Amino acid sequence: MRQVYLDHAATTPLHPEVAAAIRQFLENSFGNPSSVHAFGREAKKHLEEARRKVAALIGAVPEEIIFTSGGTETDNLAVLGTAFANQRRGNHIITSSIEHHAVLDTCKFLAQNGFEVTFLPVDQNGVVSPDDVARAIRRETILISIMHANNEIGTIEPVEEIGEIAREQGIIFHTDAVQTVGHLPVDVENLRVDLLSMAAHKMYGPKGVGALYIRKRTRLTPLFHGGGQERKRRAGTENLPGIVGFGKAAEIAARDLDARRVRSQKLRDKLIQGIQQSVPDVKLNGHPARRLPNNANFCFPSVEGESLLLSLDLKGIAASTGSACSVRAFQASHVLTAIGLSPESARGTLRMTAGLANTDEDIDYVLEVLPEIVAKLRRMSPLARN
Ligand SMILES: *Cc1c(COP(=O)(O)O)cnc(C)c1O
Repeated sequence: MRQVYLDHAATTPLHPEVAAAIRQFLENSFGNPSSVHAFGREAKKHLEEARRKVAALIGAVPEEIIFTSGGTETDNLAVLGTAFANQRRGNHIITSSIEHHAVLDTCKFLAQNGFEVTFLPVDQNGVVSPDDVARAIRRETILISIMHANNEIGTIEPVEEIGEIAREQGIIFHTDAVQTVGHLPVDVENLRVDLLSMAAHKMYGPKGVGALYIRKRTRLTPLFHGGGQERKRRAGTENLPGIVGFGKAAEIAARDLDARRVRSQKLRDKLIQGIQQSVPDVKLNGHPARRLPNNANFCFPSVEGESLLLSLDLKGIAASTGSACSVRAFQASHVLTAIGLSPESARGTLRMTAGLANTDEDIDYVLEVLPEIVAKLRRMSPLARN
């Protein structure tokens, strides 16, 4: 049976060149980059080379990149680190209601610990209004955190405009760019951000490694205390095999970015148009144009998302409902409810995210089996409105 992986927003497979680079490193190098001897210096060389590659991908300088254990730690470090470093200046944070849980729950934690958080609404396409951001600013505001693109519905946020507002007011601006780095051009100067989160496993690198871009002179309190690694921003011996893989993934992304985006967008558009033509009564979630080049997110009224996933899985197709992390006891996704979907509609959504290995034939196959599955589930559904 054909196997079609359409869940690249949850994680991407390792790029073969990344796998080769990690293997090569693991077999030849083991030193601790903090050691002064030759073994340490050799390890340090790999660490700094990876840092240069990640920095280059986003238009930063290497000194502004701190390696972490992934997107979640990076978001925690950005939000908590800024909050702790600036609590004497103020205690107010502005974020959106559709952030990844790594930002959202961190802000909720701060709200329970003496900070005030404004969770901005979004419009029906999932867009945060820069005017809303400007209006929410107070004298005590120390941080604005708005994601670059949403991981569920794919909407790209007006980060440049929000960055401009933050800069005028002298407020630190963080963006979670885990879904865009390696897929779209990301430049920290154009985006006007002070902090930017990345994760290697969303861009064909390994799991368990991420990075935070920290603009020079941005104050940040570390979360981990111990050794002086990563300019004292993140103590602990570095995950060097992961970092080497991340560096390679960044190098490949910079090289292949345009081709990757064009190709991905073609597959996505074929998928979206195909579904709109072959399945009655569907609704595309997220912004029709300002969306991630690989994201298709649909509402299938009267269908249960979980049943749809299982039926697709039986046909070898891997997709997702809402997001992988919100498979919490049938709770409707916070993103889907924020764009105005009822809990019932939110449960009938399907996210498909294309990637490098997908082909036209993969999409043909999905378009062949999906309409039948939806029709069958609708016939059996107690949710049907007939
Ligand atoms: C996946 C993801 C994260 C979390 O990254 P991990 O490396 O899985 O911890 C954070 N934000 C966004 C937008 C994501 O898609």
